[in-house]
Amino acid sequence: MKILLASLCLISLLVILPSVFSASSSSEDFDFFYFVQQWPGSYCDTQKKCCYPNSGKPAADFGIHGLWPNYKDGTYPSNCDDSKPFDSSTISDLLTSMKKSWPTLACPSGSGEAFWEHEWEKHGTCSESVIDQHEYFQTALNLKQKTNLLGALTKAGINPDGKSYSLESIRDSIKESIGFTPWVECNRDGSGNSQLYQVYLCVDRSGSGLIECPVFPHGKCGAEIEFPSF
Ligand code: 5GP
Ligand code: 5GP
Repeated sequence: MKILLASLCLISLLVILPSVFSASSSSEDFDFFYFVQQWPGSYCDTQKKCCYPNSGKPAADFGIHGLWPNYKDGTYPSNCDDSKPFDSSTISDLLTSMKKSWPTLACPSGSGEAFWEHEWEKHGTCSESVIDQHEYFQTALNLKQKTNLLGALTKAGINPDGKSYSLESIRDSIKESIGFTPWVECNRDGSGNSQLYQVYLCVDRSGSGLIECPVFPHGKCGAEIEFPSF
């Protein structure tokens, strides 16, 4: 009986321990970031409504959605540390830039803090082993500046004018200007047309530079997609 009990204990330890360890390491580590920017026109012209932030209508430019730690196998960690809540006092020097570059479009209208808090808690807490809260937001702001997505597209004659452009020409113009292949996510406007919604670029673990994406997300755009105005 004792032997049976002891071996049962041993077996349960062998089963439980690895999952405990992998849970803790997977929540603290990651391979690269997706840096995701959203086109406000495509957030606002769907069947769901959008709301401008308290500070007014954002610029007709891509806005930051988030900086998301990811694994090379396509999975990702989330909500890694509830002991580090979002604290806007740690980013008070960034708030003016945040309002401009990371505007919220969700309803009801807000300052943006709820969006930033969500992004920090879901994604930012998973890169704490590399960058702290201030660096997390600063890194995203720097990346937005550095990439100038709208500039890359307009330089190639791709403008937010409600016309359709080939997905290939959109990808190529970003690659040409920024140097790395983006991944384009589409959604549908109120009439069901496929349109340019978000652009994903990949960033190394330290947050310091763009890289070619180790893996792309799933999903599909049409071959021709709309670029709505905002
Ligand atoms: P959706 O299901 O709309 O594509 O994504 C919903 C949310 O899940 C995203 O806003 C983001 O927070 C998270 N998410 C979706 N895909 C990925 C991904 O590939 N990597 C990471 N890190 N987060 C993702
Ligand atoms: P994710 O899809 O990143 O997990 O979650 C996005 C969350 O942030 C949602 O709860 C959404 O309502 C909120 N949110 C606030 N403002 C925005 C915005 O401008 N764009 C997007 N995509 N989500 C926003």
